[in-house]
Amino acid sequence: MSRKVYVAGKLVPAEQATVSVFDHGLLYGDGIFEGIRVYGSRVFLLKEHIDRLYESALAIRLQIPLSPAEMTKAVEETVKANELIDGYVRLVVTRGPGSLGLDIRRTSNPQVIIIADTISMYPPEMYENGMRIITASTIRNHPGALSPKVKSLNYLNNIMAKIEGTDAGTEEALMLNHNGEVAECTADNIFIVKRGVLKTPQPDCGLLEGITRGAVMRLAREADIEVRECVLVRHDIYTADECFLTGTGAEVIAVVSLDGRMIGSGKPGPITRNLLDRFRRLTRGA
Ligand code: PMP
Repeated sequence: MSRKVYVAGKLVPAEQATVSVFDHGLLYGDGIFEGIRVYGSRVFLLKEHIDRLYESALAIRLQIPLSPAEMTKAVEETVKANELIDGYVRLVVTRGPGSLGLDIRRTSNPQVIIIADTISMYPPEMYENGMRIITASTIRNHPGALSPKVKSLNYLNNIMAKIEGTDAGTEEALMLNHNGEVAECTADNIFIVKRGVLKTPQPDCGLLEGITRGAVMRLAREADIEVRECVLVRHDIYTADECFLTGTGAEVIAVVSLDGRMIGSGKPGPITRNLLDRFRRLTRGA
């Protein structure tokens, strides 16, 4: 079966799925996106992703040509047409083709693109042993410049930090905000555990409010684990009992060192393992 991509309002074979070279999504990164998981043919937390997409659109003053209900249906139809059982959906909305200038009044036809694909995750042994990360020197976008709450097509901020991680031999890199506080990693949110309390940077520290972050906070509360959104600095991570990341692709993955400094026991901790187990039960049943 050939892969089908939703573009210009219909499903077409992947090789025929194209957009204009004049699309401002390409020319300026002017657009938004979502990355969504499919588990057992079901789109995971689709409503949350759709809500975040429409909020990102509002933030960048982009009028999405479909209603949220139509968008939901388009995502579900794309998953079905590709017979996707476990995988990943990339939903993109661009500003559409326009002239070679920034003026959005000279663009038209925002493009909705939906790709259903397989997912490449971190290697299984990393979930067993935990990952190492470093702090990137690239700070997270200043919220007054481009709010990190917007999941925009302009990911250069994160890409530059990711390169620093790659250069240091790590899969992820920690990004601080303009005040030197912990924000998030390049494509994942960060949590620590200290004396049994789960802590994660509060949204105004300049981060994308991850859908997985929200799901894990709910799971923790269900397990009677105290959850706090607060300001964290690197000292808090160096001295944490446990640390882990959350994201659509990563799910829940332990972090066992930051900048070469061991965190806690240097192994995935009990609360991290508990939350990973609960997350897997939530997504895979059982
Ligand atoms: N932060 C950033 C910068 C991201 O790109 C992502 C998504 N990969 C996340 C956090 C995690 O968000 P979610 O749980 O919604 O995937």
